[in-house]
Amino acid sequence: MNVMSNDLKTLIPDTQKFLRQEMKQFIGGEWVASSNSDSFSVIDPSSAEVLAQVPKGNAEDIDAAVQAANTAFNDPLWRDMPPANREKLMHRFADLIEGHAEELGQLEALDVGMPSFIGQHVEVGNVLDTLRYMAGWPTKINGRTMNIGEPMPEKRFFAYTCREPVGVVGAIVPWNVPLMIAMWKIAPALATGCTIVIKPSEVTPLATLRLAELAVDAGIPAGVINVVNGLGHEAGQALVEHPLVNKISFTGSAVTGKAINRTATETLKNVTLELGGKSPVILLDDANLDKAVQGISMGIFGNTGQVCVAGSRLYIQRGIFDKAVDRLTKEARSLKVGPGLHPETKIGPLVSEAHRDKVMGLIEAGVKAGGEVVTGGSQIDGPGYYVEPTVLINPPQSSQVVQEEIFGPVITAIPFDDIDEAAALANDTTYGLSSYVWSKDIQRVHQLVPKIRAGQVYVNSSPFPHPAMPMGGYRQSGIGRDLGEEAINHYTEHKSVVIGIN
Ligand code: NDP
Repeated sequence: MNVMSNDLKTLIPDTQKFLRQEMKQFIGGEWVASSNSDSFSVIDPSSAEVLAQVPKGNAEDIDAAVQAANTAFNDPLWRDMPPANREKLMHRFADLIEGHAEELGQLEALDVGMPSFIGQHVEVGNVLDTLRYMAGWPTKINGRTMNIGEPMPEKRFFAYTCREPVGVVGAIVPWNVPLMIAMWKIAPALATGCTIVIKPSEVTPLATLRLAELAVDAGIPAGVINVVNGLGHEAGQALVEHPLVNKISFTGSAVTGKAINRTATETLKNVTLELGGKSPVILLDDANLDKAVQGISMGIFGNTGQVCVAGSRLYIQRGIFDKAVDRLTKEARSLKVGPGLHPETKIGPLVSEAHRDKVMGLIEAGVKAGGEVVTGGSQIDGPGYYVEPTVLINPPQSSQVVQEEIFGPVITAIPFDDIDEAAALANDTTYGLSSYVWSKDIQRVHQLVPKIRAGQVYVNSSPFPHPAMPMGGYRQSGIGRDLGEEAINHYTEHKSVVIGIN
């Protein structure tokens, strides 16, 4: 593909209208200028050109947003809203997002670099599924009545539990699928009656701002969803420290997650962390190789590998190692690399220059450690931050390229002999987010699944987050879960009520 930069003339009018040179914060249902004049540039990763300026929010802006969220949380309009009305409002919000799916997909293509059809259909599709799934919960958040007997002589009690919203939630969101991950935090907040302040990544702030504006258009009260842009160590840190924030929901790197957890301990916040991964893919010799290669390719090269559940460590049963590597190599070479707005693009650029350099550094380290690049391995010259889809075989299991999250279009491949060895290699990591098994043999699948220490196991499938399925990791991949009933639990407190009745 020759065209390597986005053609902004192909943007639909809605996207052009939203993309102003000077963006603002979204606080209390309004566009608000930052408390200072500092700003940062939002860069199109396909061309390295500036798309917009976004205010660099600080502790004062975070305080304004948290105060707005706290006021909305205590407003009977939101707090005492009947569950069925909350459900209706969430569906109205979903319908409005659906009507703006193309615009949101284009904003993600510009900001993140992903193909716009993926933004529109896969990412916004998941946003809608999540919001509509969570809209089913408000009418089903119940407590229990408890038979506590007669704990005191001749005194009787009626005892029950109920669940109440945790309060103001601080959501810190990364740059890889910003809109989807923002919705993983917004939807349970809306379902439970919480309010939320979102701090998007400084690299990809655009679509989340538009989402917050659409929420108000849908009738969600002002102050329920607020967005403050700013740097992690300023705005993000202020959000984690703020005493009126009751819960932090974070998705991002393990290093930042640990720092956030330490800070949140000062005010004993409820914390959910969805951190990185180095997810293993175990390919057994009886698998359907055509389907497996396609799924493995999608699982590592989709979104240019910038996916927390990317299957980045491939373990292949020795007898089919050469054949499987050959097929995966051909598949990787067939993927069209280009800008997000181009209709033929399958693989976009990496999100930033710094990230491109990190990915290239890890490929080079893998080669130095003894790995062999069978395809890819290079950055693509010109504007934008492109790296070729890369397959690296036989690096040592202990090397950086096998142990460290790369977050790029890079897969390592290592052979194994039997199931026990495959499980040991799969678990040889500090992470435990996702994992993949490819096999037609139901017995071997059932032998492997319990041995793998990870929050998700996909068998004969590439990853796809489903809103009903809890999403999170073992070990250093995090604490708690996004999505599913588990997320509803994390956004509610349990109250025990004991009433003496005689
Ligand atoms: P970070 O974890 O540093 O950033 C994620 C979010 O946290 C961003 O919004 C960031 O803001 C914010 N943040 C950073 N520091 C703080 C802080 N002290 N207090 C509060 N918030 C903070 O990830 P990076 O963007 O630096 O990416 C580094 C690596 O992390 C990637 O290469 C990848 O390996 C991994 N990663 C994992 C993700 C996942 O889904 N699990 C998603 C993204 C990255 P700001 O952007 O302004 O720094």
